[in-house]
Amino acid sequence: MMKYADLIDENIEELGFLDAIDAGKLFRASKSPDIHLCSHLLRYYAGAADKIHGETLKMSGEFQGYTLREPIGVVGHIIAWNYPSGMFFMKVAPALAAGCTMILKPAEQTPLTALFCAHLAKLAGIPDGVVNVVTGFGPKAGAAISSHMDIDKVSFTGSTEVGRLIMQAAAQSNLKVVSLELGGKSPVIIFDDADVDMAVDLALLGVFHNKGEMCIAGSRVYVQEGIYDKFVQKAAEKAKTWVVGDPIDPLTRQGPQVDKKQFEKILSYIELGKRGGATLLTGGKACGEKGYYIEPTIFTDVTEDMLIVKDEIFGPVMSLMKFKTVEEAIERANSTRYGLAAGIVTNNLNTVNRVSRSIRAGIIWVNCYLVFNPDCPFGGYKMSGFGKDMGMHALEKYLHVKSVVTPIYNSPW
Ligand code: ADP
Repeated sequence: MMKYADLIDENIEELGFLDAIDAGKLFRASKSPDIHLCSHLLRYYAGAADKIHGETLKMSGEFQGYTLREPIGVVGHIIAWNYPSGMFFMKVAPALAAGCTMILKPAEQTPLTALFCAHLAKLAGIPDGVVNVVTGFGPKAGAAISSHMDIDKVSFTGSTEVGRLIMQAAAQSNLKVVSLELGGKSPVIIFDDADVDMAVDLALLGVFHNKGEMCIAGSRVYVQEGIYDKFVQKAAEKAKTWVVGDPIDPLTRQGPQVDKKQFEKILSYIELGKRGGATLLTGGKACGEKGYYIEPTIFTDVTEDMLIVKDEIFGPVMSLMKFKTVEEAIERANSTRYGLAAGIVTNNLNTVNRVSRSIRAGIIWVNCYLVFNPDCPFGGYKMSGFGKDMGMHALEKYLHVKSVVTPIYNSPW
């Protein structure tokens, strides 16, 4: 695994480039946090591989016991297209450390990095048959994994709709263990005491980064009434300076959406927003002569019953809302079927503690957003799924616990 990590570092440009041409991701961004996370994940879990151990059990009476933690077996990873290389290692690294063999199916939109990473696995000396990559479409290749009788576990990242199909297929086949990292509609709550410029930068990054194609996108932004007007004005100004274009160009901040289907879906949500009575503060249409580029879009005058606030759009579309009190912010932030991430911007420690404990989401970013590290567990509440990627918790997904019980002295039988 250490050798594998070194090979990732040596091929960082290539991986970043493949992600850029496959997914329209910024080459600059791919080179830095995403791809660095890949080798970091491998090293983190390589360090964990020899620290997997069981417990001794005192039991009662004449018996004692211990537990073994064993690899869960053959793992099927089915992943999405928005973070092709990072997601590959979020799945593969802990499963390898747990001692599993695996089949990974990348999204049909973005097979290149997965194939390249399979090649690097071979160069790193990982035995044949341990890390396998199968490309193909979801209903065929993905479904073959989720319904396979000899696959023991499926670890999925993708939409909530497909997550449901995966659970059904697992239930109808061999009851394989399932973990799901699904959609989100994450709130970012900005309080009156926040530095407005910093809060605007954080909120724009939270939803426009990676052209909004992020399950953790902070697409519902709640701003307290005292700074709301100032925030709106600055957000509009800054969104207009956000450069949309060629993902390879170092000056670009937002590349094209992944494909035509996604492009059209986002534009149809923007139309829904306009027709539903929301006010378009900025953006609102496709840009450029060709390619699937969409302007960074901000809606104001939105309410929680609108589809643009309820549904995951997976594009550069922010809904900006005003609130008065902490209680109201908590209630509205929680008024979603999802629970993946949330952001809080304030310098008030009491507010941080209260809100972070009250929001039902798997990760809370305070005065920051989109910060990931291999030791930081990631995964949702509610319809954002269950089971953690990253951290020592992710290892548990790929391990079984077996109890062994013996008599202390002579066998009573
Ligand atoms: P998105 O909505 O982000 O495109 P999807 O949930 O459609 O995400 O796809 C995520 C992954 O799930 C992809 O690898 C895709 O091929 C796969 N997939 C899609 N449909 C199915 C299915 N019926 N069974 C298993 N995997 C599927």
